[in-house]
Amino acid sequence: MTHPFLDLAPLTAAHFASIERRVAALLSTEQDVVITQGEALLPLEGCIRSGARPGSTALNVVTGPYGQTFGDWLRDCGATVVDLAVPFHTAVTAAQVEGALAEHPEIDFVSLVHAEAATGNTNPVAEIGEVVRAHGALFYLDAVASIGAEPVLPDAWGVDMCIIGAQKAMGGPAGVSVVSVSERAWERFAANPRAPRRSYLSLLDWKERWIDGGRRALPHAPAQLEMLALEACLERIEAEGLDALMARHAAAAAATRAGALALGGGLEPYVYEAADAAPVATTLRSPAGVDASELVARALAVDPSLPLIAGGGALAKEMIRVNHYGAAANRDVVRSSLEALGTALDATGRTADPRAALRAVTEVWA
Ligand SMILES: *Cc1c(COP(=O)(O)O)cnc(C)c1O
Repeated sequence: MTHPFLDLAPLTAAHFASIERRVAALLSTEQDVVITQGEALLPLEGCIRSGARPGSTALNVVTGPYGQTFGDWLRDCGATVVDLAVPFHTAVTAAQVEGALAEHPEIDFVSLVHAEAATGNTNPVAEIGEVVRAHGALFYLDAVASIGAEPVLPDAWGVDMCIIGAQKAMGGPAGVSVVSVSERAWERFAANPRAPRRSYLSLLDWKERWIDGGRRALPHAPAQLEMLALEACLERIEAEGLDALMARHAAAAAATRAGALALGGGLEPYVYEAADAAPVATTLRSPAGVDASELVARALAVDPSLPLIAGGGALAKEMIRVNHYGAAANRDVVRSSLEALGTALDATGRTADPRAALRAVTEVWA
């Protein structure tokens, strides 16, 4: 018997290329767009291994856990790494990046995470792009958690490698990801004898076998289900409008922040300044003496479908993440999440005001 997931017509090269063009439009980019057949960690690692080598010096901006991972990969490639770490409750500034570049003129690679779903902050990429451009370094950007939630403009910002995944604000599949690659980045990859080739991590393979060949023959069998899911996700975004999708995420973040402040009970936004808070997800600090993972467990007991999770690793005790992205960038989801957190706070002996929280959500969302 036939099955809708199994008995599909082959995905043609032309179809694959048309999905690539739709992603390029989403990014407003003229750069080459490569769809990579795996979760976003694949192009994130592939770009670093292609662009970094012994003798290079990389500025690695750390505003959350992904920045730490990128630093490890860069060191593993033999690059000298200058870490610029800022506290997770804030964002990095262009002036800090400029200062680091001035102190280390040999820097030829800059890695930055745009928004961090894991810590709830977002960085001013347009301004940072200007100073990176002026310095001349290659600019690597992890935009997995920002695409769909806030503007991501690799061409306007001078980003040389912009990596996105569909599984956050785009509300799409996790099994395929995308990177836009500038001409400068291709040149750097080609000049790097250590850049992966004939490897799953290789971007040069895609250039030589797919792009330079006129996108006529796929180098290997495409991840067909994920590609169709990506196409469906792009169609849905085009129907809603990218601006409307971003506005929905901005509203969810602003409403969650205002609602948490009105809820009280000792709950506070984790990111101090609203301007530094990411539209994709809002992080909250649990009240002193209240374990965040316990609070989340109590809130999920009210409704297990809520997009609540405690922070990862050492943050599990103090951070609550409200992952209001994709379909969860929705007023009812934000309201229910705050109500459940109110119930959880009550159970720990705090006094929360869920009605004030709901009023704040209504005001901010309108
Ligand atoms: C979510 C995310 C990724 C992708 O990682 P997964 O944990 O597999 O979803 C990469 N970078 C950032 C900044 C992210 O938020």
